[in-house]
Parts: sequence; structure tokens; C-alpha cells
Amino acid sequence: MSTPQPPIALYIHLPFCLARCPYCDFVVYAGGDARGPQARTERLYEAVGRELELRADALDHRFGRPDADDLRTGAPVDRRVPLRSVYFGGGTPSLVPGEWLERLVAIVRSRYGIAPDAEVTLEANPGPGERGDAAAFRRAGVTRISFGAQSMDAAELRRLGRRHSPEEVAASMAAARAAGVASINLDLLYDVPGQSVAAWEATIRAALALGPDHLSLYALTLDDPDAEGITGKDGDHLPTPPGARRWRERARVEQDDDRAADQYRLATDLLSAEGWRGYEISNWARPGHESRHNLVYWERGSYEAVGPGAHAFDGTARRWNAAAMEPYVAALMPIDGRRALPPGGREEISAETATAERMILALRLDGGVPATWAEVGPASGVFSWARSLGLVEPIDLDGEPRLRLTTRGRLLSNELFERLL
Ligand code: SF4
Repeated sequence: MSTPQPPIALYIHLPFCLARCPYCDFVVYAGGDARGPQARTERLYEAVGRELELRADALDHRFGRPDADDLRTGAPVDRRVPLRSVYFGGGTPSLVPGEWLERLVAIVRSRYGIAPDAEVTLEANPGPGERGDAAAFRRAGVTRISFGAQSMDAAELRRLGRRHSPEEVAASMAAARAAGVASINLDLLYDVPGQSVAAWEATIRAALALGPDHLSLYALTLDDPDAEGITGKDGDHLPTPPGARRWRERARVEQDDDRAADQYRLATDLLSAEGWRGYEISNWARPGHESRHNLVYWERGSYEAVGPGAHAFDGTARRWNAAAMEPYVAALMPIDGRRALPPGGREEISAETATAERMILALRLDGGVPATWAEVGPASGVFSWARSLGLVEPIDLDGEPRLRLTTRGRLLSNELFERLL
């Protein structure tokens, strides 16, 4: 039976974007909420700072303070380990002014502790009005920037409703490098309406020519959070606007599973030939640039999270904040001064679900699972089925026999994962 663990990573959701892309299901507030006289940015940043403090109070109570030294002996007692990763996601966190970023990082440093070699990631958009000031981000402690490039084809970017050009991706990367950012990721999308396999190859090659350290390659997913019932009062998603719903209906008919599989295989072969490691189903890195933050998720580590719609995990339960901004701000910045944690939900994870989750998350990684996990219990039948179809293969990792997904297994991973749950 697992016990709750103090967080080793922290996610901070900053939900503002200049405009909302029609395929996006992240918790985003755009347009007048993000800029201009009615912008709600300052109040939200203030509220996020207060949530950081309140969550830290609760962690101090449960696990001890990160800086609690024994005053008599000088020996550390009740010390929480400092964070190994801090991740500013969104939204477009690069819209945050440098001074606000410094204030938030200062709260994290004093209340959570940040390890000297920690990864501090900021998501950014490449457009000139969105990329922010890389030098200011660097001064605040950012070590890694993840750019939402999505494509290196101008027409494709327009079709996706994006506001930047391929040249601006290059300019943003150059600015980040000049500021001394050590690790840069580019997000790219395949299975985009109208995107041929050749166009996808051209995007990957153009991205590689810019010299990134990490690539996240995602199939465009067009979900319906309203139909999934996750947009209610305490839901962690916002309702899909009618225009975005119409865009998705048109786009869905132009998607093609077979073409997407060809695009995935092409990316796998091309990146492997270039010496990249596909260390997770959707993520490739040059050696030493694997995302330490996402590895905490995949290795089922404990993480804290703040901001509207953010999810946290303590090893035994998942907790989330509701996506709606008004109740979030109202709880943390009340008129009567009696601040409280924002509304949201919580789910205890049963032992059976925890076992399945551990297996599924490990299978996402290129190290796979110990072969012994496939020999006992209900999972043994699933693994026999997966082996017979060539979805998993045996490997030897430092002398330990393990099973990992083949490329075919990665393509059909959802079918395998559903059987393990
Ligand atoms: S910029 Fe990113 S977070 Fe913002 S709406 Fe577009 S996809 Fe979503």
C-alpha cells in the first residue's frame, strides 16, 4: 500500500493566450481577458501566488518544511526534498511579465525549495507579441523553454489558427539561445487536416535544422470535453466555444488514421537515424535533454500543482482545481480577507488502478516494464496477446529482462492500455 509523498515537482498553470486556437482543450482565457484594459492577468497572478503559499502551508503541515533545521544541533529535521522540476504551463506563460515570473519563482524557492540543478520550464509561443523576454525568463531561473511551434509550414499554421510563422519559430529559438537557455523543446503536430506525409517530413527536417534539444510530436486530437462531462462547475475543462466546435467537425473528416500511422513511423525512423532517443511515445530528446518534469509524471512521482484546472498527485490521490477563473480568484482573493483554497475535486486511487497506472506509464517509456510484471495476474493474458501481435518486445536493460513497446505497439498503445485497466 503506498503512502502519500511530498512533491518532487510543481506545475503552475498560467491560462492566458492572445487568442484561442480552435483545436485547443487546455484551460485558456484569451482576448480581452489576456490584454487590454479589462485584462484579468494581474489578479490571476496574484491569486496563483496565494495558492502557492496555501498549498505550501498544507505541505509543511503534512510533511515538514523544506528549510526546517533543528535549532539545537543544526541538523536538518522534517526536511522536504527541494523540487527537482518547476513547470510553467498554459495557456501561454511567456505572456507573463518578467517581474511576475520572478515573484512567483521567489515564492516557490522560499516555500518549496528548488534543487540547484532543477529543471525550470516555461511554455512559450513563437509569435513576436507572445514569446516574451527570454533574458528576463532566464534571470528568473528558467532553464528550459518549450515552444508551441506546431508546424514549420506557413499554410498549415494558418489552417490551425496559429498566429506565428516558421521564421518566427527560428527567431524565438535564436533569442532563447542568445539569452542562455540551455534546453529547448519544439512541439509539433501531425494528423493535421490537409497535411501530407511529405509535408510532415519537411516540418520535422525544418525543425531539426534549428537545433532543438527535444521534440514533442503529438497527433492532433479533437475531443469534446462537454460530452465527456468534464466542463461542469468543478470540472477541470472549459466548455468548447461554438466556433471551435464547428472547426473541429470540419477538421475531423480530414483526419486519417492510416496517414497518421505513416507519419508516426516516418518520424520514428528519421529521428532515430539522426541519433535522437524516442524515450517516450510522443517525445524525443538528444542525450541529457529528456524532460525531467514529464518523467516525474510517467514514473508516477508526486507533484504539486496550482492555477485554474491544474492537477496534482501525491502517490495515493489525485486532486484538481476547477477550470473556472472567477471562483478560483474569489476563493484566493476574497473581499472579506478570509482566503481559502480554490474549488475542485479529488480522487483516491485504488490499489488495482495504481498497479495498472504504473504499468501503463512505464510502457510509455522506452525502458518498458520488468518482464516479471507480465508473468502474473490478469496482466499476463494481456501481455501474451500483445506479444502475439508484435506490440511488445523483450529487451535487456542493465542485465534486467524487460518488455517494451515496439513501434507498432506505440501506434496501438491505447488498445493495449485499455486492456490493462
Ligand atoms: S496557444 Fe496553445 S494554449 Fe493557447 S489556445 Fe493555442 S494551443 Fe491552446
